[in-house]
Amino acid sequence: MSNYRKKFVVNPGSKIRLKHFDPDYHGKHESHKSALPEIQENLKKMDELQYRMYAENKHSLLIVLQGLDAAGKDGVVRHVLTGLNPSGCVSTNFKEPTKVEVAHDFLWRVHPHVPAKGSIAIFNRSHYEDVLVVRVHGLAPEKVWSKRYDQINDFERLIVTENNTTILKFFLHISKDEQLSRFKKRLDDPERQWKISDSDYKEREYWDDYIKTFEDVLTKTSTEQAPWFIIPSNHKWFRDLAISQIIVRQMDDMNMQLPKSTVNLAEIRREYHQAKDGENAHRRKKR
Ligand code: AMP
Ligand code: MG
Repeated sequence: MSNYRKKFVVNPGSKIRLKHFDPDYHGKHESHKSALPEIQENLKKMDELQYRMYAENKHSLLIVLQGLDAAGKDGVVRHVLTGLNPSGCVSTNFKEPTKVEVAHDFLWRVHPHVPAKGSIAIFNRSHYEDVLVVRVHGLAPEKVWSKRYDQINDFERLIVTENNTTILKFFLHISKDEQLSRFKKRLDDPERQWKISDSDYKEREYWDDYIKTFEDVLTKTSTEQAPWFIIPSNHKWFRDLAISQIIVRQMDDMNMQLPKSTVNLAEIRREYHQAKDGENAHRRKKR
């Protein structure tokens, strides 16, 4: 079985040009149907591992999803992360910052949403918008955004080292044609028309600028402690397969253990359960 963690990770220090990455790649499977059993197996394992994480209460996992419009960020939340137990999992969408948020440093609104011990946090967009949309549209001057790559790396290192968090960052890579065809499908599907915004089409004019800013993000912020993965995402099912496998393998490596019981099980059994059985036997006899 292919090791997608190894295949798609951005090795720290490597200079990324996205034209060298094929968004159409889909490995050995030819269709959703043939990939489905493997995806389902991954989701089942993810559920078991999350149960352990919650019980052990030592590790946490932060999943960052970035990509151009219609790359499938919402789809990953729905199809891959949907099976997780909500008591140990929080998903946050980062939209345009409010007045109060922009009056602070760019990480101020992000920090409260990082995962607590025992839990998983999903960022649908993230602090990376502050070196993506902000840079493309000149929402902050270069002398401000150019410092943010190091600030982001420092912030992520803090979370990893201080709170035993594992960070996985996924760039969902689609082609420009695939984006247009997804916009068209939204236009024709009453269930999804609500997702269309004027800015989606306007942002297409900035496609090349976004690619360049993403390349910088991938080059400067893929680190040992918080690696980026470039996920070929023209095929939604392959995107789900690759991401679910990477998450499962990473969680498996945490080697999480269920905590030992803190009570005297034998005593409890004797005192409450055998007594109860005895009581029932007594009742049965009386009847
Ligand atoms: P959506 O994910 O489609 O709901 O759109 C959210 C919008 O918020 C996108 O257009 C993002 O570019 C924008 N956004 C998110 N974070 C920021 C930020 N820090 N500064 C400016 N715009 C942002
Ligand atoms: Mg959108």
